[in-house]
Amino acid sequence: MSELAGVPKPEELLKIDYQPPRKGWMDTPVKFKPGTYNYPAASKNLKVLDLPFSREWSPTEEDWKLPENWKEIVLKGIAERLSKYRSFKIFMDICVRCGACADKCHFFLGSGDPKNMPVLRAELLRSIYRKEFTAAGKVLGKLAGARELTPAVIKEWFYYFYQCTECRRCSVFCPYGIDTAEITMIGRELLYLLGLGINWALEPVAKCFMTGNHLGIQPHTLKDTLEFFADDIEDITGVRVEVPINKKGADILFVTPSGDYFADPGTYTCMGYLILFHELGLNYTWSTYASEGGNFGLFTSHEMIKRLNAKLYAEAKRLGVKWILGGECGHMWRVIHQYMDTMNGPADFLEEPVSPFTGTKFENAKATKMVHIMEFTADLIKHNKLKLDPSRNDKLKVTFHDSCNPARAMGILEEPRYVIKNVCKDFYEMPENTIREKTFCCAGGAGLGNDENMEMRLRGGLPRGNAVKYVQEKHGVNRLACMCAIDRATLIPLCDYWAPGVQVIGIHEMVANALMMKGEKERKTDLRGEPLKEVEE
Ligand code: SF4
Ligand code: SF4
Repeated sequence: MSELAGVPKPEELLKIDYQPPRKGWMDTPVKFKPGTYNYPAASKNLKVLDLPFSREWSPTEEDWKLPENWKEIVLKGIAERLSKYRSFKIFMDICVRCGACADKCHFFLGSGDPKNMPVLRAELLRSIYRKEFTAAGKVLGKLAGARELTPAVIKEWFYYFYQCTECRRCSVFCPYGIDTAEITMIGRELLYLLGLGINWALEPVAKCFMTGNHLGIQPHTLKDTLEFFADDIEDITGVRVEVPINKKGADILFVTPSGDYFADPGTYTCMGYLILFHELGLNYTWSTYASEGGNFGLFTSHEMIKRLNAKLYAEAKRLGVKWILGGECGHMWRVIHQYMDTMNGPADFLEEPVSPFTGTKFENAKATKMVHIMEFTADLIKHNKLKLDPSRNDKLKVTFHDSCNPARAMGILEEPRYVIKNVCKDFYEMPENTIREKTFCCAGGAGLGNDENMEMRLRGGLPRGNAVKYVQEKHGVNRLACMCAIDRATLIPLCDYWAPGVQVIGIHEMVANALMMKGEKERKTDLRGEPLKEVEE
C-alpha cells in the first residue's frame, strides 16, 4: 500500500466537481498539482536517444528554458506532420464539437476537469492549427476557436497530453472516427521537439536502446531469471522445463514485455509460458537481444516506435525463425497491428504463421508474421491439445479486464474469455459498457504508470475500479484477469484503492495452474506457492 501513501482517501476523490470554471477554457491556465503530473524526462535519457535540447527543468518553475526559436520549431513540426499524416489533418478539420466523446474519457469522469474531455484535449492543439493554418482562424481568431501559441499553451500540452493514456475509448463513440489518441501522440512528438517529455516514458526507451528491454535487464540477468523460474516450476510440478535462449534455427521466436520477467504477478504469467511451451514440446527460443515485446516508443514518437519495433524483426532474421509469437502485452499489439507493416514491413523473410500442433493458419498475422499468444492458446484448447483441470483454479472467482489495445486495436475479445472459461469455473463479466470495445482504461498506460502521478491514475481508474467493485460485491469476484503487462502493474494499486481484496492475475498463470503436465507430481500449490483450494480445505 506504500505507493498509495499521500493519496487522498477514496471518499475525498469521489467528491468530483463537474462544474466548469467560470472563465472560458482558453483563459484558464494550467495548474501543476502534485500527484497529477509526471516528472520530466532526464536529460541523460534525451542524450542517449539523440533528442534535442536536453536540459534539467521543472514543470512547476516559471521558466521552462525553451530554446530561443521554440515557436518556429513547433509550427514547423505541425506543418510537417500535417503533410505527412493524413489522419492528423483530417482530425484537425472535421470535429463538429457534438460532444459525444465528452463524458467517455476516464480522466474526465474521475477529475471533472473539462480539459480532460477528449474534444477539449484535441482543441488544445486544434486551436493553434486554426490560428496558424486556416484562413478563418487567422482572420477571426478566438471567434473561430483559434488562439496564439504561447509558452502557456506548451505547459497546457505537457499537462494534458500526459493525462491521456492513448486508450482510444473516445474514438469508439465519435461519429466521425476521430482518434484523440493520435492527436495526443502528435502533441507529445511536438513537445519532444523542444526537449520536453516525461521520464517514466522516455527512460524505458533509452534502456531499450542500451540493453534491448525497458527495464535495462542485462542478458545474463535475463538468463538467470528464466532459470530461477524453471527452478520454481520444478519445485511445484516436479518437472524441469527447458529455457532455450538465442537458439538459432528454432521455429518460433517468443517475445514478451520485460515486466513479465521482473515483477509479480507478471512473473507467474512468465512461468505459465514456460510450462505451456514445455508441455507442447514447442521448438522456440527466447532472445536476450529482442528481450522486450513492449514498445514505449508508442508513448514518445512515431520514429521511436519504428526504431524499437525493428529489433524484433532483426532478431527473428538473425535467428532464422519461421515466425514470432508474442506474450500477454497491450501496446506491443497496437504497434504490431497498426504500425509495424508500414514502418518496418513487409516481413517477407518470415513464414506465414501456422500452429505446429493444430495446423491452424493465423491469417490475421499474414503481414506481420506475429501471433498473439491468446489466439495461439485458444486454438490449442479448441483442438483439444491441452489436458486441463480447471478445478485447480477453484478458489478463483474471476472477472476480465479487456486491455485497451488488444480489445480496441486488434479486436481480441473472445479468445481470452474462451481461454479463461476453459481453465476456471467461476467467471463473471463486468457491466457491458465497461468491457470489450468500450473497456475502461487502467489509467496508467502510455507512460503514466508512475508513483508521482498516482492521484490522477486513481481518478482515471475510478470507472474501471467501480466496475470491479460491482462484480466483487455481486458475485464475490476475487481476481481481475488481464493480458497486458502494464495492466498487471497498474491494476494492483487501482484495485487496492477502489476494490480492496481483488487481486490481479495474468491468463497464462491460470492456464499453467490448470495444465496437467506429463510426469508431474501431485501439485500442492499454485504457481504463487499458495495452497490449491482442496489442500486449503
Ligand atoms: S465525438 Fe468526435 S466530432 Fe463529436 S466532439 Fe468528440 S471528437 Fe468531435
Ligand atoms: S484516448 Fe483515452 S485517455 Fe485519451 S482522451 Fe480518449 S478516452 Fe481519454
